[in-house]
Amino acid sequence: MGGKLLYEGKAKKIFETPHPYEVEVYFKDDATAFNGAKKGQITSKGILNNAISSLFFELLESNGVKSHYLKRIDERSMLVKKLKIIQIEVVVRNVAAGSLSQRLGWAEGKILPSPVVEFYYKSDELGDPLINDYHVAALGLATPEELAFLAAQSLKINSILLKHLLDRKVKLVDFKLEYGKSDEEILLGDEISPDTCRFWDSETNLKLDKDRFRRDLGEVEEAYQEIHDRLAGGPKV
Ligand code: UDP
Repeated sequence: MGGKLLYEGKAKKIFETPHPYEVEVYFKDDATAFNGAKKGQITSKGILNNAISSLFFELLESNGVKSHYLKRIDERSMLVKKLKIIQIEVVVRNVAAGSLSQRLGWAEGKILPSPVVEFYYKSDELGDPLINDYHVAALGLATPEELAFLAAQSLKINSILLKHLLDRKVKLVDFKLEYGKSDEEILLGDEISPDTCRFWDSETNLKLDKDRFRRDLGEVEEAYQEIHDRLAGGPKV
């Protein structure tokens, strides 16, 4: 749309729009991992993540979860409400993997008896450290009520996504969410895509997410495409 570039992150650019309370999110093909130490490109990732995130935000909206999402503008861009981002990353886990497996020595793939919610401090310099509610209070990142809302809303999102994905033969292992404020209302922000979630095929446990890039497993673009096609194509029986 040609507005001024407001911010450029690792995977997205944010542009101004004619409306002061709306911005355009442009999805890039750039991929990073390990806090930026590994860099690369995944062909068409921007197009796929824009489409996948749009489908997820629309699904959540229809289930009563408010987000910044307004509409898809074109292949690589969506129009969203401008948010003041809360500097907390909320991770929800259903199956052990990644940093949880390392921290607790749980084998990757161990099914958790109940979902686990974690908070991380959004800070590139510190490498997004794990924090708890006391750290959140001491850092002044959110009030106890706001933090309770983030946890409850993230668990609600987990239930909605878990079922929707399982119907499409995808296991939702874990995912990361970000929230922000628009006026005084807390809305879901950022993206929901194979960059920010772990998706495994529910029958074979084949990885269909960014771990294919992190771990050099190959067929990265194909995995993102597969997730897109399963979401766009409806339930698989
Ligand atoms: N995640 C993310 N951004 C981050 C850190 C994690 O999107 O900066 C996602 C990641 O893709 C996974 C989940 O959050 O779906 C849990 O990640 P974990 O803590 O296991 O860290 P990782 O193994 O990715 O370093």
